[in-house]
Parts: sequence; C-alpha cells; structure tokens
Amino acid sequence: MACVSYPYEYEAPVSQTLFDRASLVTPGGVNSPVRAFRAVGGTPRFMVSGTGPYLTDADGREYVDLVCSWGPMILGHSHPEVVAAVQAAVARGTSFGTPGEGEVALAEEIVARIEPVEQVRLVSSGTEATMSAIRLARGFTGRAKVVKFAGCYHGHVDALLAAAGSGVATLGLPDTPGVTGAQTGDTIVLPYNDLEAVRRAFAAHPGEIACVITEASAGNMGVVPPVDGFNAGLKELCSADGALYISDEVMTGFRTSKAGWYGVDGVRPDLMTFGKVMGGGFPAAAFGGRADVMAYLAPVGPVYQAGTLSGNPVATAAGLAQLRLLDDAAYEKVDAVSLEIQGLVTAALSKEGVAHTIQTASNMFSVFFSDRPVRDYEDAKAQEAFRFTPFFHSMLAQGVYLPPSAFESWFVSTTHDERAVERIAAALPAAARAAAEVSA
Ligand code: PLP
Repeated sequence: MACVSYPYEYEAPVSQTLFDRASLVTPGGVNSPVRAFRAVGGTPRFMVSGTGPYLTDADGREYVDLVCSWGPMILGHSHPEVVAAVQAAVARGTSFGTPGEGEVALAEEIVARIEPVEQVRLVSSGTEATMSAIRLARGFTGRAKVVKFAGCYHGHVDALLAAAGSGVATLGLPDTPGVTGAQTGDTIVLPYNDLEAVRRAFAAHPGEIACVITEASAGNMGVVPPVDGFNAGLKELCSADGALYISDEVMTGFRTSKAGWYGVDGVRPDLMTFGKVMGGGFPAAAFGGRADVMAYLAPVGPVYQAGTLSGNPVATAAGLAQLRLLDDAAYEKVDAVSLEIQGLVTAALSKEGVAHTIQTASNMFSVFFSDRPVRDYEDAKAQEAFRFTPFFHSMLAQGVYLPPSAFESWFVSTTHDERAVERIAAALPAAARAAAEVSA
C-alpha cells in the first residue's frame, strides 16, 4: 500500500462519530463489507439523503454519486414517480403474507422484457436468487457439480464462495472460514473467458455438472465483458452435456439494456437471476427461466424454496415503477452520460501519463490502472491498484463519490446531468495527478 496521507479524516466529523458508534455495535461498523472503505482507508461517509445524481452525507456535504447503491438507482435517487408508488403502497399495508397483484405485475414485466424467462420467482436479494437457481438446477438435473468463474461474484452463497480466483480457489477450497469443504466440494472454479477450461471440465466430469453459472458480463472484478463467443460457447457446452446455463444478471439485468445483457448478446440461458435495478432501491430480486425447469419448484415441483417477505408489496411497487420508467430513451441517456464520463476520465489520466484501460458493458464501466486489456481475474489483480487510493480520495474530497475499491463497476443514472458531469470534470485533473504521483 502506498504511503500517502490524506486530509480527509477531519472533513467528516459527523460520519466519524457515527462510524465510531457503529463499530461498537456492528462488526467493522457496516452491514456489507465493501462499504467500510477498507480497500482505500479513511472514514466511510454516512449518507442521509439522495436526490437525482447527488448524495448528501451526515456532515452536510454533497457528492455526485457514481455508485448508485451499487447499481439499483438507475433513475437517480428519490425519483418522484418511484417515491409516489412506494408511498401509495406503504399506505395500503407493508406485508400481507399472501399473494398480491403487485408481484404478478412485476413478474409480468420481467417476463415481457426478457424472452427466455417464461416463469419467474421473486425473492429478496441477489444472493437468494443465485442460491435458489443453483438448488433448482441441481434438483432438475439430479447432478451435484457447479461450475463458476474466478472473479465472478454471485452473492455470499456458501457453494459459490470458493470464488475469488487463485490456485486455492481452483481446487474448490472455500475462500472464507465458515464455509466447509463439503459445501464447496462440488464447486469447480475456472478462469473467466476461458472456454477451453470449461470444455476440459465437462470432459473430466461427464454427466456430473448440474450447471454453469456466470455473470452475464462480469462486473465484480471491475467490468470484464465476455469475449466474443464465450457466453454462446458456455450455452453450447451445457446443452451438449445436459447441464443448465445460468446467467447471473443481478448486476446487468435491466441496466445494460431493457433486457439486460441478454438484450446485448442474445444468448439464451436456461435460468437467469436478477436483483438491484428490478427492486427500485428495495430488497427485491428474482430467478426465472425455462418453464419446464421452473416447474420443479415448490409448490408444483419437489425443489423447496420460500420467503416470508418474497414479493413484498412495497418492494414490488418500487421495482415496477422503476422498470416502467426505463424505456429506450432512458437507456440512451444513461449510455450517453456514461460515455461522456469515460471520455473525461481517460483524458485526465492520459494527460498525467497514467497507464489505464477503461472497460465497459453498455453503461457500466470501470477504470483499470493497467495498459493491458483485462480478460480475467488474474489480469484484474495485475493492475496498479495502489493508484486508485489517492485517485479515490481526491475525487471524494472534491465531492465525487466513487466505489471505494479498484475492482468495482462505476454506475450512472438518467439524472447525471450537465451540472453533475461538470463537477466530475472539475475534480478529475487533481485526482489524475494524485494517481500519477503515488508510488507503490
Ligand atoms: N450476483 C451478482 C452478479 C452481484 O453483483 C451481486 C451483488 O453485488 C449478487 C449476485 C448478490 O446480490 P445481493 O447483494 O443482493 O445479495
């Protein structure tokens, strides 16, 4: 880690006080690890409100938000129509434990947008969606093994936490204490974008692999899109062996196009998972796909899956309102502003001679501090990640909130307007200079 000091601690005294309080009662002071700023150091900002492309922290400072709640807030914060839908739903009651029309309408919207999804089951988080999809794939095929890719994140599902690359992961050993070898013993971890490795895995385990799960376009090691033919090749290999191809669109779904990444590459998965955008900022997620596979799910089929708050009326109202606003014009807007910001970032870094590569998946993008294209997790880890820390803190100090890690996608919204872009443009030169000046 580079030895640099930043004048940020005293800039956020209220956040600091809240973080101190939080750290006493919550491990690391956060309810999801990446929020803790561990990768970049310093005090996480406690946000109190969000409007459009802006967040305001507990110290009263406003930031242009390039995290968008890690993807969901594609219409910006507090969109009036989403807020109105939520308020109307809350006034009718917050949870019934019965079926309701809102969940039918949300399911219909998903099925209408994404052609391979014939039926869908709503859940409350992306983790639940991938966990359930894998259980269903195993139940449907009667097979145990699951193929996943290093650097792809599918939530904190035990079997998928043999995850983050490296030789250890390829042996199917768990990444985290608490996940046992038994839970990951049937997980085969392969390098992303390496179709030959998948071919070899099928050859070594014929008739044993229940499914291949992949991020539709990887976004959890930074943005690493599939190389030409990778997803299609996965589908082909799965079909040939009787395994299911599961496309995890929790991040890309309803973001990279109206029909997510499926709308971009057209490769037809057997099962798909969704979250983030479809919840409109509330805990709503889903898995769905082929009707004959979904028919294996309880109560029609034998594979059990359930949830007290699944299809919650407030969450579904938020998700439905957001999806209905996401028309072609909305995606054009998000794509355009994403391109504009990418251009500004690359111009600023180039001016300071900082080696970098910007990789994109429609409007999702990330900046790798490396002059080589990143195809997999090993490439991603080879970047000069130490440059990100001063870059991040300089942007933060100038009122631009980036993901606090060099291995994340940046997210924009329909509300990132000229004023927001100008703020980013004004902040970039100093941040690029800080990235150039730091040494490993
Ligand atoms: N799958 C992907 C591709 C994700 O990016 C994430 C979260 O970032 C998940 C699954 C897990 O979703 P959640 O955090 O809602 O459990």
